[in-house]
Amino acid sequence: MLEVGFRDGLAKVVTWEPQAKLRLRTPAVLFLASGRIPLFSEAEALVLSKGAPLVEAGGVPVLSDGESEQSDIPEGSSCPFYLEEFVKDTLGPLGKDGRFMVVGPRPPEKVPDTVDVVIAGNIAGMLGDPKRLVPYLTALRRAAGYSRLIYAPNAGEPSHIALLAYLGVDLFGSIPLAFAARQGYLLFTDGKYPAAEAWKAGLCHCPACTARSKEKVDPAAQPEADYKWALLHNNHIALQETKTVRHAISMSGIRELVEARVRSEPWLVASLRELDLRHYDTVERYMPITKPFLIATSRESLHRPEVARFQWRVREWYARPPTARILLLLPCSARKPYSRSPTHRAISMAVEACKAPHLIHKVVVTSPLGIVPMDLEQFYPANCYDIAVTGDWDTPEIKMIKEGLDLLVKKGQYDGVIAYIGGMTFINEILEDHKRLKILTPQDPRRKEDLETLTSALDGMIEAIGPVENNGKGSPDRRRRGEDYAAFARFQFGPGAEALVDHVAFSNGHLKLFKDGKQTGTLNEERGMVGLTMDGGQIIKGLGRYQVEIEDFEPSGSVFAVGVKSATEEIRPGDEVVVIRKGDLAGVGVAVMSGPEMMERRKGLRGAAVELRHRHK
Ligand SMILES: [Zn+2]
Repeated sequence: MLEVGFRDGLAKVVTWEPQAKLRLRTPAVLFLASGRIPLFSEAEALVLSKGAPLVEAGGVPVLSDGESEQSDIPEGSSCPFYLEEFVKDTLGPLGKDGRFMVVGPRPPEKVPDTVDVVIAGNIAGMLGDPKRLVPYLTALRRAAGYSRLIYAPNAGEPSHIALLAYLGVDLFGSIPLAFAARQGYLLFTDGKYPAAEAWKAGLCHCPACTARSKEKVDPAAQPEADYKWALLHNNHIALQETKTVRHAISMSGIRELVEARVRSEPWLVASLRELDLRHYDTVERYMPITKPFLIATSRESLHRPEVARFQWRVREWYARPPTARILLLLPCSARKPYSRSPTHRAISMAVEACKAPHLIHKVVVTSPLGIVPMDLEQFYPANCYDIAVTGDWDTPEIKMIKEGLDLLVKKGQYDGVIAYIGGMTFINEILEDHKRLKILTPQDPRRKEDLETLTSALDGMIEAIGPVENNGKGSPDRRRRGEDYAAFARFQFGPGAEALVDHVAFSNGHLKLFKDGKQTGTLNEERGMVGLTMDGGQIIKGLGRYQVEIEDFEPSGSVFAVGVKSATEEIRPGDEVVVIRKGDLAGVGVAVMSGPEMMERRKGLRGAAVELRHRHK
């Protein structure tokens, strides 16, 4: 039985019950015990083989009956020992019904329905080689689907675990830990150190290292004692790291952890870049649409899938509010959403003071997102990203901002452009061809004189573009507010979803969306998304996106994966979806899984696909 508890891209926390009374949470290390590899009594899971006693230490899942023939560190460690036999003999008792499958250096075309665990025995030879490792693991994940576990028995060095979990590896082995110990290395999350030197420097206080300081060892037994100590240390650090990785996944922070961990070896950084730049689709399709934070601390942050997806939607789905005809470019603020920062509050007052604030389209120029229209400031990650701000811009950031701005200006067909940004002169060359352009470089965007200059520049631009037709209902400001949320809805659900909104209103502390007098949705500020009502669901149903079709049953609080008949491809965990039964709207709610994961509908797969908010009565 497998149940995914937390999803963070390809990394996930799964509760796995390979057999009765055996329950394990992944990512985890399956620690090998054999004649030459002492049993690690703190292990969460042991793989036993010949020479080792059959022990269930403290309720630890033991994945063997102890009768197999093979053990030991593989020669050269580049390939796991006799992998077929390992599965047959060591995991045999669990593998009889075909729940384990060994895959070779080429990912299989298809994985049989019964398989829970795919054993990738060739990973060790690919470590250090991003151009092989990353395509292999992403292709393997595509073939295996999301709901199976990938087990790499020859990978498990503490400094590799976070990245490999982010690449989709769920289960690790302890062979590399034993191999490093034999070679005299202590492994840490930031790399490896010769054991003797690390000991002299007093680098570690793990239980193994603490115990060693009290031990008296017979000099004749020293080499073996050193190996056992180094192995026990390596085991403890690897175990600790799997717990750190699980915690990071459950907190939606695996990417932040990975960006920190990959610094120890260039090939780890290169693998992350390879993944971001050439295998974006595989990661993005499982990446939640909203999270509580995004901390950008490295060059790699510019390319993380959450950022790339936001930029893709600005390019492909976003359309400016029709009334917003004058583009006003603004700096970002440390506080998010921007409108809560003192600088943006001061700027907003200066905009409100102009003759026609409803004509002004405020757009923030920033890193790592590039271009953020203020009408999207509540959408993740615009609503919470954090980045080191020094006013210095790197070449990749400049390129990214220029490209985003160029497209915005071309697509937006603005009647006028005003830039109110200091220290970003590189944007001027994108703007210089615009027929009505005013570049202001405030000393301090909150300074009174600068703000007054802004208001008069806006007034000048409003006059220059001439009279604007006003033929809609209600005040221009009220109409513009509706347009802003229509743009937001379109960004969330794609083109056509602007039909959800003709005006918005505040009541009971919530912003509500209306169309033709009916409430279609409510803005959920915490998630940064529109939650649909049944009336809103009818509109989204007509778009053909974000649809989950279920079998013919009456859904209650949740729709489970087994009840899903089909789901559209663009659904991501956390997305707002409509649930359809026999062609009719049956409910609206929040997707727990991505659309592709729902479509796997594998036997024995547990868990909710959609948590319903409203359902048809
Ligand atoms: Zn230690």
